Amino acid sequence: MVLNNCENRTEALLQFIEESPSVFHAVESIKKRLLSAGYAELFEAGEWELSSGGRYFVTRNDSSIAAFAIPEDNAQEGEKNSLANVKGFHIAAAHSDSPSFKIKENPEMKTDGQYVRLNTEKYGGMIMSTWLDRTLSVAGRVVCRQDGRLVSRLVNVDRDMLVIPNLAIHMNRDVNQGMEYNAQSDMLPLYGEAGGEKGFMETIAEAAGVEQEEILAHDLFLYVREKGRVIGGSGEFILSPRLDDLQCAFAAATAMIESTPKDYINICVVFDNEEIGSSTRQGADSTFLVDVMARIQEAFGKPDGWLRQKIADSFLISADNAHAIHPNHPEKADPVNRPVLNGGIVMKYHGSQRYATDALTAAEIKELCREADVPVQIYTNRSDIAGGLTLGNISVNHVSVPTADIGLPQLAMHSALETAGSRDTAYAVRMFKTFYDK
Ligand code: ZN
Repeated sequence: MVLNNCENRTEALLQFIEESPSVFHAVESIKKRLLSAGYAELFEAGEWELSSGGRYFVTRNDSSIAAFAIPEDNAQEGEKNSLANVKGFHIAAAHSDSPSFKIKENPEMKTDGQYVRLNTEKYGGMIMSTWLDRTLSVAGRVVCRQDGRLVSRLVNVDRDMLVIPNLAIHMNRDVNQGMEYNAQSDMLPLYGEAGGEKGFMETIAEAAGVEQEEILAHDLFLYVREKGRVIGGSGEFILSPRLDDLQCAFAAATAMIESTPKDYINICVVFDNEEIGSSTRQGADSTFLVDVMARIQEAFGKPDGWLRQKIADSFLISADNAHAIHPNHPEKADPVNRPVLNGGIVMKYHGSQRYATDALTAAEIKELCREADVPVQIYTNRSDIAGGLTLGNISVNHVSVPTADIGLPQLAMHSALETAGSRDTAYAVRMFKTFYDK
């Protein structure tokens, strides 16, 4: 029974990742699932009419999304919903973006009169070598002029199209001694032959279903074509692109859909731009989350100060994948706290609070996991390794709620293909459901 559940969750996760080759597609995939679960779409530029028991979502830049569910009210008939029984907010946050290469403006570059390469630049900090000799394609969005107005369209060139070829070992005998990769000279993908039939932007226009002349601007990214799959002697692991952080985004969104709020307003927010520092209009360092919370306050006619009071009894779980102990490099892990794949939720601590977890919020997570019957493991960096940054600390600058940083254990973070445990997604869904059902 439990195993079945894990298999289903893993299958659904891999399907979700496949449908999400770019950040815009990831948000679209979440949106699609929310709509079919009865969530209503709101727009930041529109009026919000909310009611008790209602379920809603709103996007920003088509690359961040916040879903929320209001508990049923005990207001009498004819009485305005008072949110009287609402204690605060239960918030889960994850991120929609992954490291990739962004297509620059005027992307085609002729080389040697023979080849056409695409001019790209880094988006986030990927392990560059893992993008070599792989089948790649392009996804993202284009903004077009159609019938006198500007329209944004999703694009996915859904076929094997590009490769970034390695240099032969005969031309670089030292390649296995370590290689420094230059993003401008080593990492440009090969698109086709010079004088080929179809230009790159023509291919994009065709995939978007528009005329090439209609395209005014684009946000396009490379993605690897490999589908995520289950691997290991007994199917213990998954190997997939973009597990950081679509695994957590999927788990939080799934739990949101499958749960019913009681004393807290539930929010599931998936931010863009974590991989480049979060300081965009739609990143964790924006007003997106607090704006959504303020709009809820306004829609229910609550006075100023209501939100501040409720924030004091709220909780945020910042969910971003974590490092499992590496089979070939166990020495890189902390000597004591050594998370493993399939070991369950990883709670992250950092002495200088690069992770928001403290004793109070850690205890809450441990209690939550005990209730959900989900194992918890601990991550701390080795004291001589700096480690990464994530959402929790940044989001707290705008919405100062008690926060814990957690994640699911994985290997090869920021590789084009990452490895995780095939049982951990189900653990995360269960933990988030218990959180949201409170
Ligand atoms: Zn991440």
